[in-house]
Amino acid sequence: MHGKQVLISGGAGFVGTHLSRRLLEMGHDVICVDNFFTGTKDNIIEFLDNPHFEVIRHDITFPLYVEVGQIYNLACPASPIHYQHDPVQTTKTSVHGAINMLGLAKRVGARILQASTSEVYGDPSIHPQTEDYWGNVNPIGPRSCYDEGKRCAETLFFDYHRQHKLDIKVARLFNTYGPNMHPQDGRVVSNFIMQALQNRPITLYGDGEQTRSFCYIDDLITALVSLMESDNSITGPINLGNPIEFTIRQLAENVIRLTGSKSKLINEPLPIDDPKQRQPNIDMARKVLGWEPTIQLEEGLIKTIAYFDGLLKSGKISSD
Ligand code: NAD
Ligand code: UDP
Repeated sequence: MHGKQVLISGGAGFVGTHLSRRLLEMGHDVICVDNFFTGTKDNIIEFLDNPHFEVIRHDITFPLYVEVGQIYNLACPASPIHYQHDPVQTTKTSVHGAINMLGLAKRVGARILQASTSEVYGDPSIHPQTEDYWGNVNPIGPRSCYDEGKRCAETLFFDYHRQHKLDIKVARLFNTYGPNMHPQDGRVVSNFIMQALQNRPITLYGDGEQTRSFCYIDDLITALVSLMESDNSITGPINLGNPIEFTIRQLAENVIRLTGSKSKLINEPLPIDDPKQRQPNIDMARKVLGWEPTIQLEEGLIKTIAYFDGLLKSGKISSD
């Protein structure tokens, strides 16, 4: 046999595309399962003539029957504008989707990894966030479909582990960026780069003093694969992210400098329940995976700017 049979739900999205590339390079067979809500065919076009890559158009809120050895459960819109577009479907994707993927893992005896999120910490009162912090999440606000959906998915993962002895891995991803992000998904890195490249105003929500810690996609993929391959005593939850924290204003200033843009900063209202600060404590990842990020913000931004610049010049996306 060639390598392992690996299913990636959400395989045509930003993280899924990079994960597919890495797993194919490692000699595995990849089955990409996606309903193309936020993922695109353009993202996976480079793999379509590879006989070790297969796509299934499927919504994971419905059961799926395939035979695989590993499952990365990534399916879920990740940007606030996308996950708030159809909040009921977002919760269903996290909860029913997790039940279906866990059921599949149970039936075929596969190891399964959940892409959870720093949003399980909500607007955190502990800083930086450690895995033993239970979070400060609004259960009824506009972000709740995502935050509570992901929290319930973690519950399901641990109950399947305790009740059915499933081999699980739960990763809590912090803000990650890089090529193949959707140019219009509204996340801060893609927004700022697109605005800067077109010399449009850079939209700082609130006063721009809220913080985030940005991980370049290649570092995240290394961590995800290493977690999947780790000893079965390691279940997580485990924080994966770059612990270097920036204000959103600093991010904007860096993007303007690196693009040489004429854009000016403008202030727009801060979205409801927007977390004020976010920074992962990655001691656990350092200890159990021997992992830490190696690509710092400037280097990652340069690569990401080159990607969006190429997209704009190709005419594949509109420049307004
Ligand atoms: P993305 O929106 O680019 O990708 C999500 C993919 O899931 C898309 O291809 C989409 O079409 C697919 N999808 C959505 N609902 C589906 C459904 N019901 N059935 C099948 N496919 C479905 O987002 P991303 O940044 O690649 O995020 C991937 C995962 O990582 C998500 O679960 C997200 O919550 C998690 N995550 C990402 C970040 C980040 O900064 N990128 C941070 C924390 C957590
Ligand atoms: N943000 C901003 N301008 C934008 C987009 C986002 O100031 O055009 C801010 C947003 O309010 C948040 C941070 O950038 O404080 C990160 O937002 P994003 O949507 O990327 O992810 P989040 O971490 O909030 O899920």
